[in-house]
Amino acid sequence: MEQVDVLIIGAGAAGLFCGSRAARRGRNVRVIDHSKKPAEKIRISGGGRCNFTNLETEASRFLSQNPHFAKSALARYTPWDFCDLMAAHNLTWHEKTLGQLFCDQKSGAVIQMLLDELETAGGHLSLETEVRGNIRAEDGFQIETSAGPIHCESLVIATGGLSIPKIGATSFAYDLAARFGHEIVPTRPALVPMTFTDHYHDAFSALSGVSIPVEAYAENGPGFVENLLFTHRGLSGPSVLQVSSYWHEREAVTFDLMPGQDPLNWLKVAKETAPKQTLAQLFATLYPTRFADYFVGELGHDRAARLAALSNKDLDLIAQTLHAWTLRPAGTEGWRTAEVTAGGVATDALSSRTMESKLQPGLYFIGECVDVTGWLGGYNFQWAWASAAAAAEAV
Ligand SMILES: Cc1cc2nc3c(=O)[nH]c(=O)nc-3n(C[C@H](O)[C@H](O)[C@H](O)COP(=O)(O)OP(=O)(O)OC[C@H]3O[C@@H](n4cnc5c(N)ncnc54)[C@H](O)[C@@H]3O)c2cc1C
Repeated sequence: MEQVDVLIIGAGAAGLFCGSRAARRGRNVRVIDHSKKPAEKIRISGGGRCNFTNLETEASRFLSQNPHFAKSALARYTPWDFCDLMAAHNLTWHEKTLGQLFCDQKSGAVIQMLLDELETAGGHLSLETEVRGNIRAEDGFQIETSAGPIHCESLVIATGGLSIPKIGATSFAYDLAARFGHEIVPTRPALVPMTFTDHYHDAFSALSGVSIPVEAYAENGPGFVENLLFTHRGLSGPSVLQVSSYWHEREAVTFDLMPGQDPLNWLKVAKETAPKQTLAQLFATLYPTRFADYFVGELGHDRAARLAALSNKDLDLIAQTLHAWTLRPAGTEGWRTAEVTAGGVATDALSSRTMESKLQPGLYFIGECVDVTGWLGGYNFQWAWASAAAAAEAV
């Protein structure tokens, strides 16, 4: 039977990084993964350029039942620590927007860096290796795998969440955690486009490709000032992906179409200064024409109606809708396109310092499988690095 100090299940962002740092401490490490290739989510991330961290990282940019849980790990491994690692591998980056750092080389270069780090530290990687049967906790852990039995002192679960099953996502972490008595915060697709089945489905499909700046809100979440994108299925774009993480079935989402501005004043001034202008022409000064035309209809007005014909009450109602356009999505595109999983292994039975289980000594959960879900923009990778670094010090 193979004997290792640390067995890590899942060769994604968190698993590879944890493996290299634990091996650097002199631990005998093996990382296994059932897929043919490691870290496929890094490969497809950030449109192929891996938005690997965010300079504005702080615990408030993560959803979790315990908003304080992520603080310790995030404070001890910062975005700059990962930038230093990238620099040591001659990788460069640029800030796109809102603190989001993207790799100038392709995301494959980030994967290669993690593989090189693991190898030079003396860690081992086995791909196409599955866990078979139950894991037994006896004087460490005994794991039956498709490559034979392995015994380890510390077992790290880094199998990620449920999004994109076709590239290898499984419920392994949740099933195992539950078997060891952990609670699982109900999982749901997050950072995911929203769908509509009513008349909005056809309307948004006709607007497909149009993008406008908004501030978007779910019923119980912060506002996100980013773009809204109309698609054949409904709504997407960064603002919608962000609010999807806070959205629950049957709830509404609200869009401020003039964030930080006073729509009523804007309408009144326009009516006074250009009374012959139509509402569609006025909207077209702010939005693409396709949306401007559509929105006049959505407000129940005639496209040919001039501003002069609008009463003060009309202006009030239009201003209210511009400020808070409220829609009720039918659902989301689900696991097929979600970037992450909200919910997961509950943090109350994990150490925030080491990610070790409080119920089963020697068992660790890191990365996306934990109930810590970042906003869009590099936060989820920063959690993968930080939680992996925290566990690597303890395993
Ligand atoms: C399209 C897309 C784009 C994204 N872009 C970004 C971005 O730009 N920035 C950002 O911060 N985040 C991004 N994310 C989110 C980010 O990829 C994840 O949060 C991050 O990869 C989680 O790291 P992880 O190591 O916990 O899990 P993963 O990276 O998902 O790794 C889990 C590994 O475990 C393996 N595994 C699963 N089940 C088993 C099993 N039963 N047995 C053995 N192995 C198993 C998988 O094959 C996989 O290799 C994106 C996600 C998607 C889907």
